[in-house]
Amino acid sequence: RSEGTPILETDGLQKKFGGLTAVDRVDYQISRGDIQCLIGPNGAGKSTFFGLLTGQIQPTTGEIRYKGEDITNLMPHERVRRGISLKFQTLNIYEELTVSENLQIPCQRRDEDTQMLIKEVAEQVDLADKLQQPVDILSYGEQQWLEIGMSIAVAPELLLLDEPTAGMTVEETERTGELIQRLVANGDMTALVVEHDIEFVRQIAEQVTVLHNGEVFRQGTIEEIANDPEVKRIYLGE
Ligand code: ADP
Ligand code: MG
Repeated sequence: RSEGTPILETDGLQKKFGGLTAVDRVDYQISRGDIQCLIGPNGAGKSTFFGLLTGQIQPTTGEIRYKGEDITNLMPHERVRRGISLKFQTLNIYEELTVSENLQIPCQRRDEDTQMLIKEVAEQVDLADKLQQPVDILSYGEQQWLEIGMSIAVAPELLLLDEPTAGMTVEETERTGELIQRLVANGDMTALVVEHDIEFVRQIAEQVTVLHNGEVFRQGTIEEIANDPEVKRIYLGE
């Protein structure tokens, strides 16, 4: 699956916070239609890397190319407009509103029939029968799927998910994996997922990148990574 021109490419991407190098000369590529996972111990630089991709954080040096174009200096909203969408690690939904009212926020930014779009997105994230329910009575997993719905409502080409299964039950985690696979299979979408749960990684991705101290420590198939003693060692904290 990893053939073809990359939809996203980073070249020597680096971010220093004072004396600390959070992301260190990362060369990274992901092809269109792929699902790839980014793993690594706490503090490895995963969220900073995502921040660089969305433009929330400006790199110290290095370059980001998206669909062949240099986007390193584009503002975050410009990147969203071009099709890069991030689902945040924390919940960003309005608990007192219904599922439908929440989805209306990103859906009305597109020129199509808003109500139809809301239904379409709700179906994609398994919430079609919950549209009129207030968000605060949904399960935790359903709230997370609504968040994914809000991040795909803008019809992204590259979806970034930062720990989408954090706090989920085993069943919710598995359904999230199916959901992501379905989104990528049905739409013209590519997904890059930061994740801790190795079983979940195995479910959704073939290619895995391990970050450690901001650097690419390993890249390979999930089997290569899962059986790598050096990867186990960094997770145990040396
Ligand atoms: P991860 O998501 O892999 O857990 P982060 O990208 O959040 O890692 O953090 C990488 C390193 O950068 C950590 O040492 C963290 O403390 C540091 N860091 C992250 N954001 C900032 C910031 N805004 N200012 C200073 N240091 C930061
Ligand atoms: Mg993080």
